Amino acid sequence: MATPLWAPWRMPYIVRSDKAAGAKGTCFLCEHPVVQESFRENLILLVQEHAFVCLNRYPFTPSHLLVTPRRHVSDLSDLSSEEYLALMTLLRDSAERLRRAVGCSAMNVGFNLGADAGAGVADHLHGHIVPRWPGDTNFMPVLADVRVMPEYLDDAWRRLHQAFADLPGQRAPAPTDSRGSLG
Ligand SMILES: [Zn+2]
Repeated sequence: MATPLWAPWRMPYIVRSDKAAGAKGTCFLCEHPVVQESFRENLILLVQEHAFVCLNRYPFTPSHLLVTPRRHVSDLSDLSSEEYLALMTLLRDSAERLRRAVGCSAMNVGFNLGADAGAGVADHLHGHIVPRWPGDTNFMPVLADVRVMPEYLDDAWRRLHQAFADLPGQRAPAPTDSRGSLG
């Protein structure tokens, strides 16, 4: 039976007062996919015309992805058929690439529609893809210190960046710094 996940680094996110900001110009899901030079910093893996995929900065497990429509809407029914198809296609393609890149044995995939369903940013629809491994809660305390997360997240981004190279869309340039590829 699965053990509930413990992710203490989510606390700063949960207590942030501005996380649900949905006013024009203040939504990170609207702002982050715009500037390609900031894709790595913002943990973005791929930006397409109607949808994009990024790592969740406050993940439940390593390499937790968010798949998001480009347009600021809160519900699946707000999407046009074209946008819906683009979002679901990217969700499918991202799950496939995530599984291949991190070797997870299972995944949780889904949408939290509305704050009462657990959506942290309820105003801008986003799907979650959470990779799971047998006994994955066992190693979570190793990653529990919030201060280690920025470096860990960049490692996860580097691992996944190449995995999206075969899909159409905008990506950050390949990492060239000396830390090298994780393979
Ligand atoms: Zn937005």
